Amino acid sequence: MTTEQKINDVKFHDSPVSAFENALKQFDAAAKALNLTPNQIAVIKEPRRITEVQLPVRMDDGSVQVFKGYRVQHNIARGPAKGGVRFHQDVNLDEVKALAFWMTYKCATTNVPFGGGKGGIIVDPTKLSKGELERLARRYFAELIDLFGPDKDVPAPDVGTNPEVMSWFMDTYSMHHGEFTPAVITGKPIELGGSAGRTEATAQGLMYCVYEAVKHLNLDLKKCSAAVQGFGNVGSYSAKLLYNEGTKIVAISDVTGAYQNDKGIDIPAVFNYLKDHKTLNGAEKVVSMTKMSDPMALLELPVDILVPAALENQITPKNAAKIKAKLIAEGANGPITTEADKVLDKNGTFVIPDILCNAGGVTCSYLEWVQNRMGYYWTNERIQEDLSRIMRSSFNAVLETSKQYKVNMRIAAFIVAIQRVTKASEMRGLYA
Ligand code: GLU
Repeated sequence: MTTEQKINDVKFHDSPVSAFENALKQFDAAAKALNLTPNQIAVIKEPRRITEVQLPVRMDDGSVQVFKGYRVQHNIARGPAKGGVRFHQDVNLDEVKALAFWMTYKCATTNVPFGGGKGGIIVDPTKLSKGELERLARRYFAELIDLFGPDKDVPAPDVGTNPEVMSWFMDTYSMHHGEFTPAVITGKPIELGGSAGRTEATAQGLMYCVYEAVKHLNLDLKKCSAAVQGFGNVGSYSAKLLYNEGTKIVAISDVTGAYQNDKGIDIPAVFNYLKDHKTLNGAEKVVSMTKMSDPMALLELPVDILVPAALENQITPKNAAKIKAKLIAEGANGPITTEADKVLDKNGTFVIPDILCNAGGVTCSYLEWVQNRMGYYWTNERIQEDLSRIMRSSFNAVLETSKQYKVNMRIAAFIVAIQRVTKASEMRGLYA
């Protein structure tokens, strides 16, 4: 190895992976398989509109703090931009662009009639009081009010936001427009037009994919073990639903660390602990499990199923060869880099990609938006019927495509999705 290569290797490992570059590499692999023309690629690859705003907020102590926020609309060929708003200290434009891109192709994979968008604010929401958080949320929505609308751009929760923040967004929009407009936001509380099943929908959708995947792989969930990274909305409900199927959950984690019990963690007891605690910190004193010295080691445990449900770029060339799971269900957006995908492919790991695996959230958001527009609300049974049908049929369409094109599930999902976006774009044509 030459010195230059060595330096490059070190640089590669030490420099953070660009989530958007990673997303574009996924796109390129599928575009190549589809023989897309440069013109077709040019129209659907890059974000359509990027907005950055400064958000001054009066803090409780009387001082003023200015936060930075973004909204990226990646593509609106198939319908209004759709995607969550993330509140996190590490939010940056590159990440929001990647997340908006994935929303375009996520909506197209499950064929819900939306484009893709994403928003974010650089803030650690756990450090703000409720009043400060509300003022920040309202300021963000008011600042970007012209972008949003039930037929323009429909935000939802993401990392660091929840139904309460959605209520503030929806109220801000409704006050500006002088009319109750629930369809401008999804992921709202049920009392304000939210949908039955939306809270657990992302994890539930992941489970519908897992049911189909274990059939394909000849696994029995009752005999499987699993590790779940992240215990937010997606991770916690994924752990719970897998636990309910009889799968042994041997490790879980959140920002405070990873916790392990080879005999299986009592997930209902963890939920119980979280009723009085914000994080898993100290849970090992109440629930039978030990804190792992290295939280990243959770990913390398000898389990059947791995659910990365935290943030991007968790499985990289650094640790990909050490992954032992047979099945990875991507609860998070972008947890595996393209280079790591190649290693997992070589080792025969079956990956259900994010744009399929975690699409249950936005699919249920679509059902919420439809209910809002009708003013008629469905039961959870009705929602589960639709969610199960859409997720399972999308999984099987992607699986068939992967066999047809001899590509992995991620590239297959992009092939399905890119065809739909390209078709819509071409049918609409270019204006002027
Ligand atoms: N934030 C979720 C996602 O990444 C949900 C988006 C939505 O419901 O619009 O898919």
